[in-house]
Amino acid sequence: MASTSKRLEGKVAIITGGASGIGEVTVRLFIENGAMVVIADVQDEIGKNLAEEMGAPVCVFRHCDVTVESDMEGLVDFTISKWGKLDIMYNNAGILGTAVNEDVHNLDMADFDRVISVNVRGMALGVKYASRAMVNAGTKGVIICTASVSSVLAGMAPVAYTVSKHAVLGLVRAASSGLGKHGIRVNCLSPWAVATPMLVNYLRDTIKDPTLSEEDAKASRDAHSNLHGYSLSALDIAKSALYLASDDAAFVSGLNLIVDGGFTATNHSFD
Ligand code: NAD
Repeated sequence: MASTSKRLEGKVAIITGGASGIGEVTVRLFIENGAMVVIADVQDEIGKNLAEEMGAPVCVFRHCDVTVESDMEGLVDFTISKWGKLDIMYNNAGILGTAVNEDVHNLDMADFDRVISVNVRGMALGVKYASRAMVNAGTKGVIICTASVSSVLAGMAPVAYTVSKHAVLGLVRAASSGLGKHGIRVNCLSPWAVATPMLVNYLRDTIKDPTLSEEDAKASRDAHSNLHGYSLSALDIAKSALYLASDDAAFVSGLNLIVDGGFTATNHSFD
């Protein structure tokens, strides 16, 4: 039976979007659980500060724009040359876009392209280069992609975001189907709303109140939760990523793990 104290002992992980929000909390949790982590992000300063705080032997920052193929290839090469292998690829970087709940007939195509580029192309590049390295080395690795409840529901977020997260689920299913013969597991992790900088900024834009605090954002989100009395945190999502990354999920692949307190299981039409 796998140890429950350090569930990722000796594992090497990349976390994209690791400088902020869900990614940042997952960096901390994976390291607590014995992993060595490369933080990959476009926010260089906060990413470097986090890596420094975590400590040089187990954590390093690498600038990577997930939409740029050479950045992603370089990220995986860097990881292998630093630690000799790649066990866990957590494709987590994503954006909501700026178009706030627009109708599809008014789609802003520049915004659409940007969202699809980060959320779909970025994840596809992560899957491509991580799995290539794992296959070449014979590593029975794990790939996780952050989708969202918007991978199965429309109307929760802007149109482009919904399209992109449905595509992430398709990517995960295709990758899981093809990579199983190499012993590589691929899963989707789909959170409900978490009060990270992404969500707080989105709510500020939506209600046109730049002074909205994180606490206000949590309260407005909790008011719509299906599971009363519990406030979803980034740590809850990180713990689900830890489960998927660990041997506890040894036969779990192609799954969309929806962490939403039952929201998508519920008919909200009478709310
Ligand atoms: P966040 O904004 O706090 O963190 C996202 C990180 O991704 C940031 O550090 C950002 O710099 C990085 N990033 C953005 N574009 C990038 C690029 N091109 N290359 C590399 N890094 C890039 O947001 P978060 O809420 O922690 O989001 C993490 C993931 O969770 C995203 O995929 C998001 O869609 C998903 N998600 C979030 C929520 C939520 O409510 N917060 C809900 C469901 C899904």
